Amino acid sequence: MESVPFSDLGLPPELTAGIEALGYEVPSPIQVAAIPPALEGSDIVGLSETGSGKTAAFVLPALAKIRTNRFQPQVLILCPTRELAVQVCEEVHKLALKMPSLNAVPLYGGAPIQRQMQVLKRGVHLVVGTPGRLLDHLRRGSLDPSEITTCILDEADRMLDMGFREEMEELLAQLPQERQTMFFSATMNRGVKALIEKFGNEPETIEIERQQLTVESIDQICFEVRNRSKIEVVSRILDIEQPRLAMVFCNTKKGVDECTDALLARGYGADRLHGDIAQMLRERVIRRFREGTVDLLVATDVAARGLDVDNVDLVINYDLPQDPEDYVHRVGRTGRAGRSGKAISFYFGRDAYRLKTIERFTNQQIPRQKIPTQNEVSGHLNRQLFDVVRERLEIGDFDVADTHLNELRSEGHEAADIAAAVMAILLESTDREGEEIAEDNPAKARKERKKRDRDRERPDGKGDRGKRFRERPAGEPPEPDQNGMVKLFFNIGKAQRIQPGDLAGLLHNEAELPRGSVGRIHMSHKHSLVEVKAEHAKQAIEKGGGGKLRGKSFRVDYDRGAPKGHRDKKNRKPRR
Ligand code: ADP
Ligand code: MG
Repeated sequence: MESVPFSDLGLPPELTAGIEALGYEVPSPIQVAAIPPALEGSDIVGLSETGSGKTAAFVLPALAKIRTNRFQPQVLILCPTRELAVQVCEEVHKLALKMPSLNAVPLYGGAPIQRQMQVLKRGVHLVVGTPGRLLDHLRRGSLDPSEITTCILDEADRMLDMGFREEMEELLAQLPQERQTMFFSATMNRGVKALIEKFGNEPETIEIERQQLTVESIDQICFEVRNRSKIEVVSRILDIEQPRLAMVFCNTKKGVDECTDALLARGYGADRLHGDIAQMLRERVIRRFREGTVDLLVATDVAARGLDVDNVDLVINYDLPQDPEDYVHRVGRTGRAGRSGKAISFYFGRDAYRLKTIERFTNQQIPRQKIPTQNEVSGHLNRQLFDVVRERLEIGDFDVADTHLNELRSEGHEAADIAAAVMAILLESTDREGEEIAEDNPAKARKERKKRDRDRERPDGKGDRGKRFRERPAGEPPEPDQNGMVKLFFNIGKAQRIQPGDLAGLLHNEAELPRGSVGRIHMSHKHSLVEVKAEHAKQAIEKGGGGKLRGKSFRVDYDRGAPKGHRDKKNRKPRR
């Protein structure tokens, strides 16, 4: 479901500008439903679950009404606790970023009242406070209620639970009759209803259904995977499932970075989202994912929160979440709106306990399954290819290049042989470059682990397995080889029907590299490596990237090396 933008809610431009600066992308459902009628002046009863953005739903229309040139309290917000009052006041300041003359103040018990009185004397527009202290100020005359046009009761149910009924009633009775009253809370009860009846004026009730905490309809399985095998297993899953949009969840920012880099190195078009990604970039990443330009998003829970993408068809829990609720949120990103969805979780060792907790929380079993082997993945890819061929044969739409076909036949080749040769070529193009993982062969893995443990104790340090990746951060040039060349990595290859000439053409024409500055070109299934003269490498990346080749977007960067035993494993014929 595409959401309404903030700019459609009828808010004044300084508020939409503030929201923009704050980085909220789209209004939450309660904000969409409550802001327009609140702006029109209706009384509102707003009910939605905790964390659904109720604060902005009442603060924004309240701010929209404030006349900042009148230094008189115009908005009163009642909160049950000091913490909440401070929190709401902070949100007011954030949302009023582009209303520099706005004065808002939190007033709560336990703080020196004299100082609060001085602040009030200087003139404030908006007051947030706990009922007891607010009443105290009214009694002392330090808070003038005569120009209050908006009163908001945040978490009215909790205020009643805390025994503030009398204070609240006394407060409300002292406000001008001609005012707007809004009641916001997560739940409704008899006490709140009575309060609304007494102090509300034909309020509009807006109730947002709690997001279903069920993931029953989603096909969920899990694999026991060691950390160091995770990337290979993700690759196998992606090759088999071929999702249109997939999300991979990690528990840490570092995990997101490592996972994204490793997937990119394998030629998958992945992007990342975590707390250290600047807002501008973050928005671009989300847009590209939503539009399907990038089909794989690696994210942390926090970064993915509030991300409104609902047609994800595969979720991979690269790390099992700490909190079972996060599991539900992650998995709930797939299978929406009646679509089928699949979620695959990795666990290892002690994670097994957390998996049990998740199963208890969601009240279902998550079947443990065997990781598909490389042969199974290839078999699957081959079968898919055969299916495509069969489908074509059934439609009968293969009336292409028959002059070449006739040529082959006139050379004496049988139609069946030609078909077999074509199939062989196609099958080679689906050949994936996987790596063996310990999980493929448990007995062998055990033996190797023992050997590794032995080696680790060797004084020559030879037992150290070293890093899986060569250590160099993205974007930094590597040392040139003895011919003064460095390798560039393109995340497109034979699978995208790219030929060496395409890459050479791009570098000479688009990137304007001089003749003779491009060296060997290695083509792989999903990526390519191109040698260029070190002094032109930066230019090649800056000018050569960002476009399309054969209709495919691609990425180019310095080659950062491959996982051990991965890219170098095959005997590849370099081409000029
Ligand atoms: P509630 O009062 O319903 O429990 P809050 O108003 O405290 O929820 O909001 C929960 C969190 O969501 C806050 O951190 C808030 O800044 C954030 N938030 C609110 N509205 C949006 C939005 N439209 N987009 C992104 N984050 C939002
Ligand atoms: Mg709240």
